[in-house]
Amino acid sequence: MIVSNKQQFIINKQIFVDGKFIECNTDEYYDVINPATKEVLGTIPLCNEEDINLAISSAEKAFKSWKKVTIAERSNYLLNAVSVIEEHREALAQVESENVGKPINVALADVDVLIDNLKFFAGAARGLTNIASDNYATGSTSFIRREPLGVVGSITPWNYPIMMAGWKFAPALVMGNTVVLKPSEFTPFSTLLLADILKDVLPPGVLNVITAKGETAGDAFLKSIHIKMISLTGSIKAGQYLVKNSSDSLKKIHLELGGKAPSIVFNDANLKDAVETLSMGAFYNSGQECTAVTRIYVENNVFDKFVELLKVKMSKIVIGDPTNADTDMGPLVSKAHFDRVTDFVERAKSRGVQVITAQNIPSVNKGYYYPPTLLLGMNNDDEVIQNEVFGPVVAIMPFSTEDAAYNLANDSKYALAASVWTENVSKALRATENLEAGTVWVNTHLMFVSEMPHSGGKMSGHGKDQSLYAFDEYSQVKHVMLKN
Ligand code: NAD
Repeated sequence: MIVSNKQQFIINKQIFVDGKFIECNTDEYYDVINPATKEVLGTIPLCNEEDINLAISSAEKAFKSWKKVTIAERSNYLLNAVSVIEEHREALAQVESENVGKPINVALADVDVLIDNLKFFAGAARGLTNIASDNYATGSTSFIRREPLGVVGSITPWNYPIMMAGWKFAPALVMGNTVVLKPSEFTPFSTLLLADILKDVLPPGVLNVITAKGETAGDAFLKSIHIKMISLTGSIKAGQYLVKNSSDSLKKIHLELGGKAPSIVFNDANLKDAVETLSMGAFYNSGQECTAVTRIYVENNVFDKFVELLKVKMSKIVIGDPTNADTDMGPLVSKAHFDRVTDFVERAKSRGVQVITAQNIPSVNKGYYYPPTLLLGMNNDDEVIQNEVFGPVVAIMPFSTEDAAYNLANDSKYALAASVWTENVSKALRATENLEAGTVWVNTHLMFVSEMPHSGGKMSGHGKDQSLYAFDEYSQVKHVMLKN
């Protein structure tokens, strides 16, 4: 069992293959840092191709029997997984909090999402229906078989490691695939702990967890004839790498990439509610959230009032020790990311953008803390509007007409999520139609449910996570025709 003793993880330098933790062939290792203290939490192997191929072989071997297990039984495996995850809810959240630097209550919420996801996929898989079977040609009967793909290589990001693990492996497994899961090298421990927790629950080889650099895992997955699909949640750059390099194998690539969510606040909106929710939507998880609100377009005549209310709200955010239950916001995930966010804001300042920061970072801190930050006075083509900063930084701009607001919101390479604030139902409906995004929220932001899909358009990707739509990603349909 991996147990965090605050600074060191007891099982170090191993990956989870064929139902057990094993040593790797690699001689490359990586020290994982707690971003709130900058201390080393533990050390992981950075697998080489040989190590990754071992995990793929284990998944391929397991696939031969797992695909024959009935959906009802696979569903029961997921429900048994739920029981043990519930037993280890606090431990998983503690590890997630230490590794990602997220407040413990946010980490607990993430584990709860994982649990709800598994329950949803376990139940929903048993109610799947296919297009009607019938006699479509004279003297014949057609029906559809829904079949698994094989081994899925899943790659997750550092901002929601445990939650993304569930989004990936739950629909894949219940559809009869087996999985090699690679968490981000910055935040691997909750996924390794999950493997440990599930090792007596799932058959060996069905779920394997490796630790590796992104490109090494990407290359090994791309090269392997056993990997039938690569599912990535991450940056546009990583998505492009996989797509470019999949032209030989034509492997299925499932992509959930970045976002730059806009929110439109009309002058008839409940401003108090909008400020309350959009403050959470901008600064939750330190803004390291693909659907975080990053651009708020506020109608001219309520712009100043909105900014003043948001400034007050920002100043009340409790920043500090992620292990403390009262903490709202922890540090950024790493020094490199801290520098990246800092540089974005400094460059904006040098272009004359007004930067307002909340002064609520504890004066005594050792971590990569970045304050809630509001940007004013930029154009829509500014890099802080067009690119993902992925920190607690939100830009606010005025607009004068409904069409102008949609144009500003849609002027982006991303199309993951958006929200609109208005008390006018017709206007809200028009916004849901006009906004280019995989999710449009009305009078709310950053709400997810297992029953509804999470996906983007444009360069935010094209995969579907969550919901019944995820089953289509992790299965293929076969037409069977019988002569009567
Ligand atoms: P990243 O792309 O750097 O890394 C994500 C994962 O991909 C990591 O496991 C990494 O090791 C791996 N990776 C990196 N390069 C790779 C390559 N060439 N081939 C294969 N794998 C590779 O992204 P990140 O910094 O960890 O995460 C932040 C990004 O993820 C942001 O862009 C964010 O918007 C996005 N994200 C999207 C969603 C979504 O659902 N759309 C959810 C969370 C995060």
